[in-house]
Amino acid sequence: MEYISRTEWGATPPRKPFSRLRPTRVEGIVLHHSGVRNGPKGREAARAFEAYHLSKKWAGIAYNWLVTEEGEVLEGRGAGAVSGATKGWNSRTESICYTGWGSETVPEAALHSIAQTITWIQERYGNTLWVKPHKSLGTTSCPGTVLINWLAEGQPVKAEKFDWSVVDMPERQTFSPIDRMHEEVRRTPISRRRKSRGETVRRIQVRLKEQGFDPGVADGIAGRLFEAAVRAFQSSRAWLKPDGVVDQRTFHALFIQ
Ligand SMILES: [Zn+2]
Repeated sequence: MEYISRTEWGATPPRKPFSRLRPTRVEGIVLHHSGVRNGPKGREAARAFEAYHLSKKWAGIAYNWLVTEEGEVLEGRGAGAVSGATKGWNSRTESICYTGWGSETVPEAALHSIAQTITWIQERYGNTLWVKPHKSLGTTSCPGTVLINWLAEGQPVKAEKFDWSVVDMPERQTFSPIDRMHEEVRRTPISRRRKSRGETVRRIQVRLKEQGFDPGVADGIAGRLFEAAVRAFQSSRAWLKPDGVVDQRTFHALFIQ
């Protein structure tokens, strides 16, 4: 798989910096295609999409990523940018565009790279995102029947792992699962009173246990034992109020300090 940066494919610098996604709001990955049967290919397609999107006064090419027929991955708006490709969903998704026509045979190399790109986006968001065809979010046939079926089948490919660390990316564009949980807890503290449940609660349970505070079974439910363990943890840290609620400060003490 070959990765091609904006500079390498000749992207126009954005009119203004692309808006940044709020990691906790991001829910999914959307797959698109070119929408034209015999259009330009590869990098040429990317430049054509960009020219079209700029003509609509958008900030730049609409997609976060593009994948060519040969399986090259092109940087569009890149990681963590609000895209312009999926009306109503741009601040909740990252988007990938296949530069070919997704209703005909899609080359194995392209499927391979789309799958790799999906995996990589998932890793940045803690493997929590759904993956959908544009069609399921709007009135369109995008990304074509072949790609729609391929997604429905769970993106089967014989994928070898690509080393994304070669991709030069500013630090702020990557969101670890910890960053996401931190943001989530900042917005809604976790407590028994709130009947909090879910993956973040489960991870906190695991963490409490690692720190020597037994919250019982890591079942993702903030119950009585959870609250008691949080209180005990807070009591062990003089600067925390022992209220049994995992707010931003307690979260920080648990995971980051
Ligand atoms: Zn689309």
